[in-house]
Amino acid sequence: MAQTLQEFYEEIKDCERCALSKSRTKLVFGSGSSDADIIFIGEAPGYYEDKQGIPFVGAAGKLLDELLEGVGLKRSQVYIANVLKCRPPNNRDPLADEIETCKPYLLKQIEIIKPKIICPLGNFATRLILEKNVGISKVHGQKFQVKDSVVFPIFHPAAALHQPAIRKPLEEDFVKLKKLLDEGVEITPYTEQMGLF
Ligand code: URA
Repeated sequence: MAQTLQEFYEEIKDCERCALSKSRTKLVFGSGSSDADIIFIGEAPGYYEDKQGIPFVGAAGKLLDELLEGVGLKRSQVYIANVLKCRPPNNRDPLADEIETCKPYLLKQIEIIKPKIICPLGNFATRLILEKNVGISKVHGQKFQVKDSVVFPIFHPAAALHQPAIRKPLEEDFVKLKKLLDEGVEITPYTEQMGLF
């Protein structure tokens, strides 16, 4: 029988594949529904996430909750995870080798959940999922087909906390996301759509 998220969590919860395991308090696996149609993927746990073992419980998480509520979605209906499962010291950016080491865990979660829509939040998650060195400012709010899922990149909520001008496009992208979820929309593969690569 296929592995459940709970079984997979038990398998990796004491991971020591990289040095972040030494400085973390708790590995932050992910939270939400294993039947979710949408998975949101952030960057890495911060201070509060590391303490609680739950993604997006700090300031960025509060904003994510507001954005979800704004389009009538609850956290319990979606799944939330990160590129990295452990907090980088002082919330520094994830390193390339940390991303590579942790990537199979996220891909396995996606394989188990089989979401219709993958929603990477910010540059790190978007680059990992699209496997391209794209910038979130260029690709946010557009849809891409990757294997059996639609990928819909969105600005990271933390970006809107530092740059208030990002709040509006972020809210607009959540409205588009809800529409996509409710109606389903035709997808154009990103290589053709963007003509950037
Ligand atoms: N920012 C992230 O990217 N992930 C979290 O879990 C919290 C803040």
